[in-house]
Amino acid sequence: MDIVLLGPPGAGKGTQAQRLADRLGIPQIATGDVLRAAVKQGTPRGLEAKAYMDRGDLVPDEVILAIMKETLASDGAKKGSILDGVVRTLPQAEGLNRVLKELGRKVDAVLFFDVADSELVKRLGGRTVCENCQTPYTGREPGSKCDKCGGTLVRRKDDEPEAIRNRLLVYGKQTAPVLEWYRTHGAQVRTIDAVGTQDEVTARALKAIGK
Ligand code: AMP
Repeated sequence: MDIVLLGPPGAGKGTQAQRLADRLGIPQIATGDVLRAAVKQGTPRGLEAKAYMDRGDLVPDEVILAIMKETLASDGAKKGSILDGVVRTLPQAEGLNRVLKELGRKVDAVLFFDVADSELVKRLGGRTVCENCQTPYTGREPGSKCDKCGGTLVRRKDDEPEAIRNRLLVYGKQTAPVLEWYRTHGAQVRTIDAVGTQDEVTARALKAIGK
């Protein structure tokens, strides 16, 4: 199964993608994580992406399409994938369809994580992530240790107030239309109420895809 997770920044896509990937035995693919790793390693792709990411703007579609091709064709993703924040513009949605078609696959479901804006701002402002494995945490101070790998928790630069505001604007302008596009292009779109405990939201997501 190839499942697209859509939703504003802070809706919990990263957390739920990891949980769904574990439950379904297919990998989580997160362009944000791939890009942050590239920035850390200082690769040409990372250098190109950094300024966009720091401002909370979207990285150009060509970069994202190249990542889609590499990751979806990899051995680990042969049985499918949980695409977390990978599709954020209409050209990316069309590009994903093309890449999957070449592999004899298609988008099997689109899960939309629904959360009110006021809640998103609260969540993003209090978020830290593991600098090593990218696991997100709420309400844990920078400098604490990750439960999963012992890495150090840091505040993401794009979780500063100015970048948060921009990311929400960018989402409304460029990504929200993608949801409508999927609705009119035959994909199975399911809205998930993404407010609740992690277990509750995972259960809703699994139910939405019939698991
Ligand atoms: P995320 O970790 O998903 O919040 O992504 C962090 C940042 O990476 C975003 O604010 C964008 O700058 C960039 N990014 C990640 N995925 C995409 C994408 N599909 N299209 C464009 N930019 C992206």
